[in-house]
Amino acid sequence: MIYGMKTTFSKQMVLSIVLIVLIGTSLKAQYPRFKVLAFYNKQVESAHVDFANDAIKFFKDLTIGNGFVFDLTTNMDDMNDEKVKGYQLVMMLNDFPNSPGQKQAFQKYMENGGGWMGFHVAAYNDRSTKWPWFVDFLGGGVFYRNNWPPLPAKLVIDDTNHPITIGLPNTFIAPANEWYQWKPSPRERKNVKVLASLSTDNYPLGLKDILPDGDTPVIWTNTDYRMIYLNMGHGGEIFKDATQNKLIIAALRWVIATDKKGNVFER
Ligand code: ZN
Repeated sequence: MIYGMKTTFSKQMVLSIVLIVLIGTSLKAQYPRFKVLAFYNKQVESAHVDFANDAIKFFKDLTIGNGFVFDLTTNMDDMNDEKVKGYQLVMMLNDFPNSPGQKQAFQKYMENGGGWMGFHVAAYNDRSTKWPWFVDFLGGGVFYRNNWPPLPAKLVIDDTNHPITIGLPNTFIAPANEWYQWKPSPRERKNVKVLASLSTDNYPLGLKDILPDGDTPVIWTNTDYRMIYLNMGHGGEIFKDATQNKLIIAALRWVIATDKKGNVFER
């Protein structure tokens, strides 16, 4: 009798231990937590290549400890269903889809819940751009004008409670950049949430090309998609400011965290 009880007890113990180990394993975060595919082009304006090289180092450094995978490609044909399906985010450092197949794959990826983080020229479009969906995706703005040379500028945080901007000062001086102004301003769209913009204190901004006035959003999201656009991305100064770096990291984190399959940071 006593012997039998002991056996039952030890069986229960073993079962409990196995159960604890199993639960423990399933709760333990899986590393890498997510995968990013960054597209860049080495054959574009040299200041845009400089930015891409700095960005690659910046994001690669963030993968220390295997927290996430940061894959790179200079081949825009990698924008195809098969290649991008395993990535929680595609990043456009200084380029955008060009061919009909690339455009179609990108639209499909985004409409199926993919994540996008685009910098500077990644949103460039003008009246010759024959891609209405993309202009709409970006909030309807067409490139209007820019400052020259690249200059630091005072940014205003438009929403201090958003996960991307929380904890930041209400204004800060961003490093030298070529700032784009769009027409109409993406802010006019109901589904666009502007997170940061150029302070009107900057005007007139520029020595050769001048931004004299107007609304200049620099970071925004189209709330119909998992996307964030940041206008920073010209030259070798972009990653020299801690406040701006904090914002860029928070932007990456936010797009990843809003994955419809769940928040990988809470696993
Ligand atoms: Zn530029």
